[in-house]
Amino acid sequence: MIFIFLKQYVIIFSVIIMKNYLIKALAFKEQVRVFLVNAPDALNEAIKRHDIWPSSASCLGKVMTTGLFLGANLKGEEAVTVKYNAGGPVGSIIVDADANGNVRGYVGANHINFVNNDGGLNEKMTLGDNGFLDVIKDLHLKDLFTSSVEATGDIATDFSKYYVESEQTPTLISLGTLIDVNNLAIINGGVLIQLLPNATEDAITYIESKYDILKKMSTLLQTHALEDILDMLFDDAEIVGKLDIKFLCPCNKDRFSEGLLTLSKKDLEEMIEDGKPIETICHYCGERYEFSVDELKEILNKKGK
Ligand SMILES: [Zn+2]
Repeated sequence: MIFIFLKQYVIIFSVIIMKNYLIKALAFKEQVRVFLVNAPDALNEAIKRHDIWPSSASCLGKVMTTGLFLGANLKGEEAVTVKYNAGGPVGSIIVDADANGNVRGYVGANHINFVNNDGGLNEKMTLGDNGFLDVIKDLHLKDLFTSSVEATGDIATDFSKYYVESEQTPTLISLGTLIDVNNLAIINGGVLIQLLPNATEDAITYIESKYDILKKMSTLLQTHALEDILDMLFDDAEIVGKLDIKFLCPCNKDRFSEGLLTLSKKDLEEMIEDGKPIETICHYCGERYEFSVDELKEILNKKGK
Protein backbone atom coordinates (compact mmCIF):
# COMPACT_ATOMS: atom_id res chain seq x y z
CA MET A 1 0.00 0.00 0.00
CA ILE A 2 2.70 2.40 0.94
CA PHE A 3 4.51 1.65 -2.28
CA ILE A 4 1.41 2.40 -4.33
CA PHE A 5 0.85 5.56 -2.40
CA LEU A 6 4.43 6.65 -2.95
CA LYS A 7 4.21 5.79 -6.62
CA GLN A 8 1.08 7.91 -7.02
CA TYR A 9 2.72 10.67 -5.09
CA VAL A 10 5.68 10.63 -7.45
CA ILE A 11 3.40 10.70 -10.49
CA ILE A 12 1.38 13.62 -9.15
CA PHE A 13 4.52 15.44 -8.12
CA SER A 14 6.10 15.04 -11.54
CA VAL A 15 3.28 16.79 -13.44
CA ILE A 16 3.02 19.83 -11.23
CA ILE A 17 5.53 22.36 -12.51
CA MET A 18 5.71 25.67 -10.74
CA LYS A 19 5.45 28.62 -13.14
CA ASN A 20 5.32 32.40 -13.20
CA TYR A 21 8.73 33.15 -11.78
CA LEU A 22 12.26 33.92 -12.94
CA ILE A 23 15.49 32.62 -11.46
CA LYS A 24 18.87 34.31 -11.62
CA ALA A 25 21.95 32.12 -11.32
CA LEU A 26 25.72 32.14 -11.65
CA ALA A 27 27.43 29.11 -13.20
CA PHE A 28 30.62 27.77 -14.72
CA LYS A 29 32.85 28.98 -11.85
CA GLU A 30 30.90 32.27 -11.79
CA GLN A 31 31.94 33.07 -15.36
CA VAL A 32 28.38 32.82 -16.67
CA ARG A 33 25.12 34.56 -15.73
CA VAL A 34 21.92 32.60 -16.32
CA PHE A 35 18.31 33.80 -16.23
CA LEU A 36 15.48 31.29 -16.65
CA VAL A 37 11.80 32.18 -16.73
CA ASN A 38 8.44 30.56 -17.41
CA ALA A 39 5.58 33.02 -16.95
CA PRO A 40 2.47 32.14 -19.00
CA ASP A 41 0.05 33.95 -16.66
CA ALA A 42 1.39 37.42 -17.50
CA LEU A 43 0.99 36.68 -21.21
CA ASN A 44 -2.48 35.25 -20.63
CA GLU A 45 -3.53 38.41 -18.84
CA ALA A 46 -2.49 40.40 -21.94
CA ILE A 47 -4.25 37.89 -24.24
CA LYS A 48 -7.51 38.24 -22.30
CA ARG A 49 -7.35 42.01 -21.89
CA HIS A 50 -6.60 42.66 -25.58
CA ASP A 51 -8.31 39.62 -27.19
CA ILE A 52 -5.05 38.57 -28.86
CA TRP A 53 -5.06 35.71 -31.38
CA PRO A 54 -2.39 32.97 -31.28
CA SER A 55 0.28 34.25 -33.74
CA SER A 56 0.17 37.75 -32.28
CA ALA A 57 0.15 36.25 -28.77
CA SER A 58 3.12 33.99 -29.37
CA CYS A 59 5.21 36.91 -30.65
CA LEU A 60 4.12 39.14 -27.75
CA GLY A 61 5.05 36.31 -25.34
CA LYS A 62 8.58 36.12 -26.69
CA VAL A 63 9.13 39.87 -26.52
CA MET A 64 7.69 39.77 -22.99
CA THR A 65 10.26 37.15 -22.00
CA THR A 66 13.13 39.23 -23.34
CA GLY A 67 11.67 42.27 -21.57
CA LEU A 68 11.71 40.27 -18.34
CA PHE A 69 15.37 39.37 -18.93
CA LEU A 70 16.21 43.07 -19.42
CA GLY A 71 14.19 43.96 -16.31
CA ALA A 72 15.92 41.30 -14.23
CA ASN A 73 19.22 43.11 -14.77
CA LEU A 74 17.84 46.39 -13.40
CA LYS A 75 17.57 47.48 -9.78
CA GLY A 76 15.25 49.47 -7.52
CA GLU A 77 12.68 51.48 -9.46
CA GLU A 78 14.47 51.23 -12.82
CA ALA A 79 12.37 50.10 -15.79
CA VAL A 80 12.70 49.19 -19.44
CA THR A 81 10.51 49.55 -22.53
CA VAL A 82 11.04 47.31 -25.54
CA LYS A 83 9.65 48.15 -28.99
CA TYR A 84 9.95 45.38 -31.54
CA ASN A 85 8.80 45.95 -35.11
CA ALA A 86 10.18 43.82 -37.95
CA GLY A 87 7.80 45.34 -40.51
CA GLY A 88 5.24 42.50 -40.59
CA PRO A 89 1.44 42.56 -40.10
CA VAL A 90 1.58 42.38 -36.28
CA GLY A 91 3.13 45.88 -36.24
CA SER A 92 4.87 47.12 -33.12
CA ILE A 93 5.11 44.90 -30.08
CA ILE A 94 5.56 47.01 -26.96
CA VAL A 95 6.59 45.61 -23.60
CA ASP A 96 7.41 47.34 -20.31
CA ALA A 97 9.20 45.48 -17.51
CA ASP A 98 10.82 46.45 -14.25
CA ALA A 99 13.34 45.09 -11.75
CA ASN A 100 10.60 43.54 -9.60
CA GLY A 101 9.10 41.10 -12.11
CA ASN A 102 6.22 43.33 -13.26
CA VAL A 103 5.49 43.29 -16.97
CA ARG A 104 2.83 44.62 -19.36
CA GLY A 105 2.56 44.68 -23.11
CA TYR A 106 0.47 44.92 -26.27
CA VAL A 107 0.72 44.41 -30.01
CA GLY A 108 -0.10 46.68 -32.95
CA ALA A 109 -2.47 44.11 -34.51
CA ASN A 110 -4.24 41.69 -32.13
CA HIS A 111 -5.90 39.43 -34.66
CA ILE A 112 -3.01 37.90 -36.60
CA ASN A 113 -2.98 34.14 -36.97
CA PHE A 114 -0.65 32.46 -39.45
CA VAL A 115 -0.57 28.69 -39.00
CA ASN A 116 1.93 26.33 -40.67
CA ASN A 117 0.91 23.04 -42.31
CA ASP A 118 2.07 21.19 -39.18
CA GLY A 119 -0.25 23.28 -37.01
CA GLY A 120 2.54 25.42 -35.57
CA LEU A 121 2.30 29.20 -35.53
CA ASN A 122 4.22 31.07 -38.22
CA GLU A 123 6.02 33.82 -36.35
CA LYS A 124 8.12 34.88 -39.30
CA MET A 125 5.02 35.82 -41.35
CA THR A 126 3.51 37.52 -38.31
CA LEU A 127 6.60 39.56 -37.43
CA GLY A 128 8.13 40.38 -40.83
CA ASP A 129 11.88 40.36 -41.40
CA ASN A 130 13.06 43.93 -41.68
CA GLY A 131 12.71 46.52 -38.96
CA PHE A 132 14.00 47.69 -35.62
CA LEU A 133 14.29 46.59 -32.02
CA ASP A 134 14.45 49.57 -29.67
CA VAL A 135 15.33 49.28 -26.00
CA ILE A 136 14.61 52.28 -23.78
CA LYS A 137 15.83 52.08 -20.20
CA ASP A 138 14.75 54.45 -17.47
CA LEU A 139 17.66 54.26 -15.02
CA HIS A 140 16.44 57.35 -13.13
CA LEU A 141 19.22 59.42 -14.63
CA LYS A 142 18.79 62.76 -16.44
CA ASP A 143 18.31 61.05 -19.81
CA LEU A 144 16.78 57.76 -20.87
CA PHE A 145 19.17 55.15 -22.24
CA THR A 146 18.03 54.25 -25.75
CA SER A 147 19.49 51.78 -28.18
CA SER A 148 18.36 50.36 -31.50
CA VAL A 149 19.39 47.30 -33.51
CA GLU A 150 18.02 45.64 -36.61
CA ALA A 151 14.97 43.36 -36.16
CA THR A 152 14.92 40.35 -38.48
CA GLY A 153 11.87 38.47 -37.17
CA ASP A 154 13.99 36.10 -35.09
CA ILE A 155 13.33 37.54 -31.64
CA ALA A 156 15.91 35.49 -29.69
CA THR A 157 18.71 36.25 -32.16
CA ASP A 158 17.81 39.93 -32.43
CA PHE A 159 17.89 40.39 -28.65
CA SER A 160 21.18 38.47 -28.43
CA LYS A 161 22.54 40.92 -30.99
CA TYR A 162 21.25 43.82 -28.92
CA TYR A 163 23.23 42.61 -25.89
CA VAL A 164 26.41 42.18 -27.95
CA GLU A 165 26.16 45.50 -29.82
CA SER A 166 24.68 47.75 -27.15
CA GLU A 167 25.84 46.23 -23.89
CA GLN A 168 29.04 44.52 -25.14
CA THR A 169 27.92 41.31 -23.42
CA PRO A 170 28.10 38.03 -25.36
CA THR A 171 24.63 36.54 -24.89
CA LEU A 172 22.71 33.50 -25.96
CA ILE A 173 18.90 33.46 -25.74
CA SER A 174 16.51 30.58 -26.33
CA LEU A 175 12.76 31.17 -26.11
CA GLY A 176 9.71 28.91 -25.86
CA THR A 177 6.02 29.78 -26.09
CA LEU A 178 3.12 27.41 -26.54
CA ILE A 179 -0.46 28.55 -27.10
CA ASP A 180 -3.14 25.89 -26.54
CA VAL A 181 -6.48 25.30 -28.26
CA ASN A 182 -8.16 27.81 -25.92
CA ASN A 183 -5.83 30.50 -27.30
CA LEU A 184 -4.04 30.73 -23.97
CA ALA A 185 -0.37 30.14 -23.21
CA ILE A 186 0.64 26.93 -21.43
CA ILE A 187 4.23 28.06 -21.26
CA ASN A 188 6.02 31.30 -22.01
CA GLY A 189 9.64 31.73 -21.17
CA GLY A 190 13.18 30.81 -21.96
CA VAL A 191 16.78 31.11 -20.94
CA LEU A 192 19.40 33.84 -21.22
CA ILE A 193 23.07 32.90 -20.85
CA GLN A 194 25.66 35.67 -20.66
CA LEU A 195 29.43 35.56 -20.49
CA LEU A 196 30.74 37.71 -17.64
CA PRO A 197 33.95 39.72 -18.19
CA ASN A 198 36.06 37.00 -16.49
CA ALA A 199 34.78 34.25 -18.85
CA THR A 200 37.37 32.01 -20.52
CA GLU A 201 37.32 30.20 -23.88
CA ASP A 202 36.36 27.08 -21.90
CA ALA A 203 33.08 28.72 -20.92
CA ILE A 204 32.24 29.39 -24.59
CA THR A 205 33.11 25.82 -25.60
CA TYR A 206 31.03 24.48 -22.70
CA ILE A 207 27.95 26.52 -23.65
CA GLU A 208 28.30 25.46 -27.28
CA SER A 209 28.18 21.83 -26.10
CA LYS A 210 24.73 22.53 -24.63
CA TYR A 211 23.08 23.76 -27.85
CA ASP A 212 20.98 20.61 -28.11
CA ILE A 213 19.36 21.33 -24.75
CA LEU A 214 18.85 25.01 -25.57
CA LYS A 215 17.11 24.21 -28.84
CA LYS A 216 14.43 22.20 -27.00
CA MET A 217 13.28 25.08 -24.77
CA SER A 218 9.55 24.78 -25.61
CA THR A 219 9.54 21.07 -24.73
CA LEU A 220 11.65 21.52 -21.61
CA LEU A 221 9.47 24.29 -20.20
CA GLN A 222 6.44 22.00 -20.50
CA THR A 223 8.05 19.11 -18.67
CA HIS A 224 10.65 20.54 -16.30
CA ALA A 225 10.91 23.09 -13.54
CA LEU A 226 13.34 25.96 -14.16
CA GLU A 227 15.71 24.62 -11.50
CA ASP A 228 15.89 21.26 -13.30
CA ILE A 229 16.66 22.93 -16.65
CA LEU A 230 19.41 24.92 -14.92
CA ASP A 231 20.91 21.68 -13.57
CA MET A 232 20.75 20.14 -17.05
CA LEU A 233 22.79 23.05 -18.39
CA PHE A 234 25.36 23.50 -15.60
CA ASP A 235 26.54 21.25 -12.79
CA ASP A 236 27.77 24.06 -10.53
CA ALA A 237 24.94 26.59 -10.94
CA GLU A 238 24.06 28.65 -7.89
CA ILE A 239 20.71 30.43 -7.74
CA VAL A 240 21.29 34.01 -6.57
CA GLY A 241 17.83 35.53 -7.02
CA LYS A 242 14.19 34.86 -7.79
CA LEU A 243 11.39 37.13 -9.04
CA ASP A 244 7.67 36.38 -9.07
CA ILE A 245 6.35 37.51 -12.46
CA LYS A 246 3.02 39.26 -12.91
CA PHE A 247 1.18 41.45 -15.41
CA LEU A 248 0.90 44.86 -13.83
CA CYS A 249 -0.18 48.16 -15.34
CA PRO A 250 0.20 51.12 -12.98
CA CYS A 251 -2.17 53.33 -15.00
CA ASN A 252 -4.91 55.32 -13.26
CA LYS A 253 -7.25 58.20 -14.03
CA ASP A 254 -4.84 60.81 -12.64
CA ARG A 255 -2.19 59.85 -15.18
CA PHE A 256 -4.67 60.24 -18.03
CA SER A 257 -5.74 63.56 -16.55
CA GLU A 258 -2.08 64.66 -16.76
CA GLY A 259 -2.06 63.47 -20.37
CA LEU A 260 -5.12 65.61 -21.19
CA LEU A 261 -3.37 68.55 -19.57
CA THR A 262 -0.71 68.37 -22.30
CA LEU A 263 -3.34 69.00 -25.02
CA SER A 264 -3.67 72.49 -26.43
CA LYS A 265 -6.26 74.87 -24.97
CA LYS A 266 -8.03 74.87 -28.35
CA ASP A 267 -8.38 71.05 -28.35
CA LEU A 268 -9.73 71.03 -24.80
CA GLU A 269 -12.20 73.82 -25.60
CA GLU A 270 -13.45 71.89 -28.63
CA MET A 271 -14.02 68.79 -26.50
CA ILE A 272 -16.00 70.84 -23.98
CA GLU A 273 -18.08 72.49 -26.74
CA ASP A 274 -18.98 69.01 -28.02
CA GLY A 275 -20.78 68.61 -24.68
CA LYS A 276 -20.06 64.89 -24.39
CA PRO A 277 -17.84 62.97 -21.98
CA ILE A 278 -14.67 61.58 -23.52
CA GLU A 279 -13.19 58.15 -22.96
CA THR A 280 -9.48 57.41 -22.77
CA ILE A 281 -8.08 53.90 -23.13
CA CYS A 282 -4.79 52.58 -21.75
CA HIS A 283 -2.90 50.86 -24.60
CA TYR A 284 -1.07 48.61 -22.17
CA CYS A 285 -3.97 47.09 -20.25
CA GLY A 286 -7.13 48.15 -22.10
CA GLU A 287 -8.54 49.94 -19.01
CA ARG A 288 -10.97 52.75 -19.90
CA TYR A 289 -11.28 56.08 -18.07
CA GLU A 290 -14.13 58.49 -18.72
CA PHE A 291 -13.88 62.26 -18.29
CA SER A 292 -17.11 64.24 -17.93
CA VAL A 293 -17.50 67.71 -19.44
CA ASP A 294 -17.08 69.18 -15.92
CA GLU A 295 -13.84 67.27 -15.46
CA LEU A 296 -12.62 68.55 -18.84
CA LYS A 297 -13.47 72.10 -17.70
CA GLU A 298 -11.41 71.53 -14.54
CA ILE A 299 -8.45 70.41 -16.66
CA LEU A 300 -8.83 73.50 -18.89
CA ASN A 301 -8.89 75.71 -15.77
CA LYS A 302 -5.65 74.13 -14.52
CA LYS A 303 -4.10 74.85 -17.87
CA GLY A 304 -5.10 78.49 -17.60
CA LYS A 305 -3.12 78.98 -14.38
ZN1 LIG B 1 -3.11 50.47 -18.02
